[in-house]
Amino acid sequence: MRLAVAREIEVGERRVALIPDTVARLVKKGIEVWVEAGAGESSFFTDTDYETAGAKIVTDTDALWHEADVLLKVGIPKEREDGRLEVDLLREGAVLISFLNPLGEPAIAQRLAQRQVTALSMEMIPRTTRAQSMDALSSQASIAGYKAVLIAAAALPKYFPMLTTAAGTIAPAKVFIMGAGVAGLQAIATARRLGAVVEAFDIRPAVKEEVQSLGAKFVEVQLNEDTVADGGYAKEVSEAAKQRTQEVVAEHIKQSDVVITTAQVPGKKAPILVTEEMVAQMKPGSVVVDIAAEQGGNCACTKPGKDVQYNGVTIIGPINLPSSMPVHASQLYAKNLFSLVQLLIKDSNLDVNFADDIVSAACITHAGEIRNQRVKEALATLSSATAG
Ligand code: NAD
Repeated sequence: MRLAVAREIEVGERRVALIPDTVARLVKKGIEVWVEAGAGESSFFTDTDYETAGAKIVTDTDALWHEADVLLKVGIPKEREDGRLEVDLLREGAVLISFLNPLGEPAIAQRLAQRQVTALSMEMIPRTTRAQSMDALSSQASIAGYKAVLIAAAALPKYFPMLTTAAGTIAPAKVFIMGAGVAGLQAIATARRLGAVVEAFDIRPAVKEEVQSLGAKFVEVQLNEDTVADGGYAKEVSEAAKQRTQEVVAEHIKQSDVVITTAQVPGKKAPILVTEEMVAQMKPGSVVVDIAAEQGGNCACTKPGKDVQYNGVTIIGPINLPSSMPVHASQLYAKNLFSLVQLLIKDSNLDVNFADDIVSAACITHAGEIRNQRVKEALATLSSATAG
């Protein structure tokens, strides 16, 4: 079985799918590993490090893609400089494992099916206990939550901690975290470590205890509807619920020095939680960091990839935060892939076993078919929108 690691071509993507340490573990299991020359450069892993770990360094990109049994990547395959699509370089029957965003960009699934590629999407790994070591959404979201707080702390014209000095006492910063999933909980922990007073809100009431156990106050909003979908994710809520939420959170936003927004609903545009009016009510010098910027943003003033000034408030819409910490992001992602690849190996050979619930859930295309119902629906919606 030959496993290949492609060099990421997306601008700004600094992560790599495998680090030398994971390569060594795979080689030890009798797997041949090819790594594209320079694949680890942006995350500070050299070709020599990979070679020492037992990988073959490949300079011919076409050969690497075409001769892989399993191709590992971080970001969605793209169009190359020569106009060809990366997915078209794979041969029929090959396995591709990567973030593929199949609900947001379902056209990729259609292409992969046409190419007879068996594609496993890291977004589709179930959020179960057995799949925890493969949960790349969590490993990367945690980095995003941590980094968002550091960005906010650097942009805030104030201290985070309370300080008693000879020159007077400094009050601690007030930080409000909206969305207490994996990224939000890490943001709470990080803001607390920096000494801020932290409040958090989520439409899933189940997170209250986790928020409190990290030393933050949970802001409660009573809603008369179910807010939790299958798999523990948030549901898209009604207009009435959105309005009720906004009434309650507006006061907390107004009093905060920093607002970090992390709210997402899988496959949907991110919900607007911070309106323009709410930003207008914030104190000058306050900072909003919107982790959901790539999904449209939780703040009405967010511009993805930009810092926006609004009445003295800075709204930061970072893109691909995990990539800004490529060493640990790649290390954790590589471990996620290593755990998943182990499910696909039997006696050193490739064995895609659909009886395994994790493999079955993650696999979006196989033998020319799209296997996932939600991806099929997303594709149908896209087709009707394009036709209309
Ligand atoms: P996510 O990135 O999809 O969303 C981030 C947070 O935003 C979620 O907590 C969500 O409830 C919240 N949110 C959505 N709409 C909102 C709104 N309108 N207002 C306020 N908050 C809103 O979530 P995630 O971090 O990927 O986690 C999703 C679920 O998966 C959670 O239940 C989490 O506990 C669960 N999970 C389970 C495991 C496991 O058991 N192995 C691992 C990771 C995550």
